Amino acid sequence: MKIGILALQGAFREHRLALERLGAEAREVRLPEQLEGLDGLIVPGGESSTVAKLATAYGFDTALPAFHAAGGSIFGTCAGAILLAREIEGRPEQLRLGLIDLTVARNAYGRQIASFEADLAVRGFDAPFRAVFIRAPRIASVGPDTTVLARWRGDPVAVAQGRVMAAVFHPELSGDDRVHRLFLESVAARAAAPGADAARPTEPQSPSDRAGTVGPHGDLR
Ligand code: GLN
Repeated sequence: MKIGILALQGAFREHRLALERLGAEAREVRLPEQLEGLDGLIVPGGESSTVAKLATAYGFDTALPAFHAAGGSIFGTCAGAILLAREIEGRPEQLRLGLIDLTVARNAYGRQIASFEADLAVRGFDAPFRAVFIRAPRIASVGPDTTVLARWRGDPVAVAQGRVMAAVFHPELSGDDRVHRLFLESVAARAAAPGADAARPTEPQSPSDRAGTVGPHGDLR
């Protein structure tokens, strides 16, 4: 599996190491043409207003939506989640791509708890995930099609919708690769799906053929 890490600014090296530990081929992406051939992309944390400016300057403001529309999966962490969101509270001028139905509020956890760690119950994990939050945005609202994967004090902090995942903490700093694995599994599941579709019979079948026949992929035809 080939996964890119947007390397314009911020915490991209640790993401690369996590992906490599999980056996993925990781590539740092600095130009839109380097998205070619990737199955997925991580947009790391950093300073979202800086990332937004660089993304526009290099043409990622159009290249990332095109990559997504062409079937690519994207995982945004912290500032990356801000870039992927539909709306940034109080910052209508800042670039965001609207690839996931979230409203985010930047730096909304206040000075006292600007950076903190917390044990999260993540959907599908059998033990808590120790998450590192660094001047994290708060997810103020999620759309009806967005799945909440984890919450902290009631707020969603990890979410997914279609081919997009977002987390407001830094999973690359925990020394625990389970969140990266979750992303890779979702990318792999989508890569497998077109093949399964293609294997479905296209010719009309007699009713007796249809009844209870199990197809090559275990689907009940
Ligand atoms: N506070 C940053 C912003 O709003 C995000 C911080 C991070 O990515 N760790 O852009």
